Amino acid sequence: MDRPSRKAALVVWVESAKTLTGCPDCGVIAVSAGRREVELIDAPVYATPARLVWRKRRWRCQDVDCLRGVFTEQNPTVAAPRALLTRRCIAWGVRQMRRENLSLQGLARQLGVDWHTAWKAIRPLLEQAAADERRFTGVKTLGVDEHIWHHVNPARRGPKALTGMVDLTRNAKGAVQARLLDLVPGRTGKAYAGWLADRSDQFRRGIEVAPLDPFAGYKNAIDEQLEDATAVLDAFHVVRLGTAAVDEVRRRVQQDTLGHRGRKGDPLYGIRRVLQSGAENLTPNQSRRLERVITADPRHEEVFLAYQCAQELRAAYQHHDLKAGRRIALKVLDSFHSCPVPEIARLGRTLRRWRQAFLAYFTTGRANNGGTEAINGLIELARRVARGFRNRENYRLRMLLIGGGLDGHLPT
Ligand SMILES: [Zn+2]
Repeated sequence: MDRPSRKAALVVWVESAKTLTGCPDCGVIAVSAGRREVELIDAPVYATPARLVWRKRRWRCQDVDCLRGVFTEQNPTVAAPRALLTRRCIAWGVRQMRRENLSLQGLARQLGVDWHTAWKAIRPLLEQAAADERRFTGVKTLGVDEHIWHHVNPARRGPKALTGMVDLTRNAKGAVQARLLDLVPGRTGKAYAGWLADRSDQFRRGIEVAPLDPFAGYKNAIDEQLEDATAVLDAFHVVRLGTAAVDEVRRRVQQDTLGHRGRKGDPLYGIRRVLQSGAENLTPNQSRRLERVITADPRHEEVFLAYQCAQELRAAYQHHDLKAGRRIALKVLDSFHSCPVPEIARLGRTLRRWRQAFLAYFTTGRANNGGTEAINGLIELARRVARGFRNRENYRLRMLLIGGGLDGHLPT
């Protein structure tokens, strides 16, 4: 058993007040059988590792017919039987990991133990919380996103990609406090559908809105498992498809006109950033540069046409009035697919395939997958701090913890 040394640790001795104690088996009043000192790892004090030495009372049952014999006092509010860490130490550690993004190594260092000891104490609580289906109660908006776990050989560690489910339900004030609900292996519709199928009927019926990135697999899972939910194509990703199309046109025209890839000094290459920006954000200087480059060669007009299309797509989302925004979106659906610029026509066909989910943004009060991006930021930070996770289940539990998916189901 790992009983770390008391060196460089603050040591606190405790004992319970003396009371009459009955035998847990027969109830007969027991007599004292001395003490047993049990040393526990406690939450740090003054930034110093702390040890709690609990002078446990021992008792002997005096009933001749009772098999109990000697027994030791227990108090689960101090520590679970046979635990190495006190209950408050575990709760402190979980809070540090959840709120302060403390790594397990950092936590272990502050407790003066090795990380296995710390993790062995914390992991069962996370497992228990993760298995508690009550944490899915009240989810109305359910986002889904792919998630890269690791970058090493999948033969060694399993699939690189995971599918993450995120609670994007708005609170009473209309704000989204994104919570990572779960992570399952694979980046497939099957992974998402399987997870949905494992939930209760009540959970599935409760989902009203399901934002997603333009990935048909996830869409199929929603259609199959969440019949009553409205799938919403994520605005950010749609806008990004637009700017990506502009970039493709720029590179193609660049190649056609100059016969090489864009490089410093090439006119189109010089405005590549301008072409990625919203027209409303351009400085007068940038606007003039854009105009100068476009008018310099009639073949550049195609680039400008693509740019205007991407701006129209942005305008649909940016319009403060959702009805007006929807009208622009309908115009996009009616025009892009027949655009003479092939990249825009392709985008138009994609949007027409996603017509309902694309338009649903305007009828769901701007439902979007943005909250999942916030979760991904938290995860990235935790991954940098921890320098990687080898075990997928450990990874899942850590990410659910820092992603808020276990909030309200952990010891406090
Ligand atoms: Zn007894």
